[in-house]
Amino acid sequence: MKVFTYSPGGVHPDESKITKDFPFEVFKSPPVVVIPLQQHTGAPNNPLVSVGDYVKVGQKIGDTNQFVAAPVHASVSGKVLAIEDRLLPNGTKGKCVVIENDYKDEWVELSKRDSFEDLPREEILKVIRDKGIVGLGGASFPTAVKLSPPPNKVIDIIIGNGAECESYLTVDNRVMLEYPDKIIKGILIEMQITGAKRGIIAVEENKEDAALLLNKKVQEMGLSNVEVVLVKTKYPQGGEKQLIKAVLNREVPSGGLPLDVGVVVQNVQTLKAITEAILEDKPVIERGITVSGDAVEKKGNFIMRIGTPASFIIDTLGLNRKLRKLIFGGPMTGIAQASVDVPVIKGTSGILMFGEEALEMAPQEESPCIRCASCVDSCPMGLMPFLIDHASRRKDLQEAERLHALDCIECGVCSYVCPSKRHLTENIKGVKQAIIKQKKIEAAKQAAFEKLKQQRQKEKEMS
Ligand code: SF4
Ligand code: SF4
Repeated sequence: MKVFTYSPGGVHPDESKITKDFPFEVFKSPPVVVIPLQQHTGAPNNPLVSVGDYVKVGQKIGDTNQFVAAPVHASVSGKVLAIEDRLLPNGTKGKCVVIENDYKDEWVELSKRDSFEDLPREEILKVIRDKGIVGLGGASFPTAVKLSPPPNKVIDIIIGNGAECESYLTVDNRVMLEYPDKIIKGILIEMQITGAKRGIIAVEENKEDAALLLNKKVQEMGLSNVEVVLVKTKYPQGGEKQLIKAVLNREVPSGGLPLDVGVVVQNVQTLKAITEAILEDKPVIERGITVSGDAVEKKGNFIMRIGTPASFIIDTLGLNRKLRKLIFGGPMTGIAQASVDVPVIKGTSGILMFGEEALEMAPQEESPCIRCASCVDSCPMGLMPFLIDHASRRKDLQEAERLHALDCIECGVCSYVCPSKRHLTENIKGVKQAIIKQKKIEAAKQAAFEKLKQQRQKEKEMS
């Protein structure tokens, strides 16, 4: 197979894919699950249950009538103990439905289908939304919205993202090895919805066994419109823009989206979830997660219920040294947790636990910038991270925007390569948020001004 890649930038961190050959195990169901009402990018959900209610597995417990949203479902059967604010993996607090597990695993009724080919597009999209599917690679954007581009955008290619370029994480690898048929069907369903003529599954070179298996399945199914390709093992090869550039040599414009170049990129676990939603009527109540790091006793890939608290995972798998760092996600883009009470959510691809020794290898004291340009050479978006960092520290939003800070994909590469351990990604993330906030304030001011103008005009006409 030919190996594709992108330029510029990227790095080759130590892969540490310790759990690569660990097949999925179904993780113990916890006594209590904590299910955040909002686990997606978009509008918040409202609770559909009350304290004291009995809920079944798969029952919708939170939803909204907003377009950019995805409902949430009970992952165990039992009694709703509370609906209250709890700490979330992103460091904020949010409303959660707390359910006491009765261990009866009583499911809502599911109506299975044998095929999807005769289903109208709108019905498929409705099921994808109703089953709460979001990008399971970590982005958590509602999938039904991603698959509903405006009428002027033509999607011609769906890319299945099997790059999994973050160190330690092996969950997508296992999904590809254990559920290849569901991934391929997921691609076909997305091609049917969008009218795309081609499907490509892109797998990093270090998972060639998964690529070969997927390719064999594609051949067996006689699909001439789906192909499997290898991409170079490099971080962040799995970034949507980097994958599109690598596989198709199409450049997503600054400020643009993959759909601007006719592409939808979908993580392989999301594709599996789509197939399960359409054919098995199954909502997102669990997901595959890699648990790794030097501090956890029993590492592996697990199918875990959404809402499983980290403390329960730690108690179940055990620690072999003092836990100093708990990360939800991969080491580059994941979020270090301040508490072990946070629950697994739809966007949790990995849980990493590190002890003292791993931390000693990663001193985080900042030194002055030595202008070595390593951050510039490695940035996959072709940005000047050290200059954006300077602008961020000066709170010069205009300069940061001029330097295309909004194009930063927050991959963490610049911080990783910086010999001075500058907190580049953190500062660039901060300035991005400040720019977006300022834009919202300006838009609100402009809207208020327009409203006032119209009001004055009306008053003038009436007088
Ligand atoms: S975090 Fe942003 S600025 Fe830094 S390397 Fe990644 S894309 Fe470039
Ligand atoms: S890598 Fe660090 S030291 Fe080198 S130019 Fe960038 S910010 Fe400065």
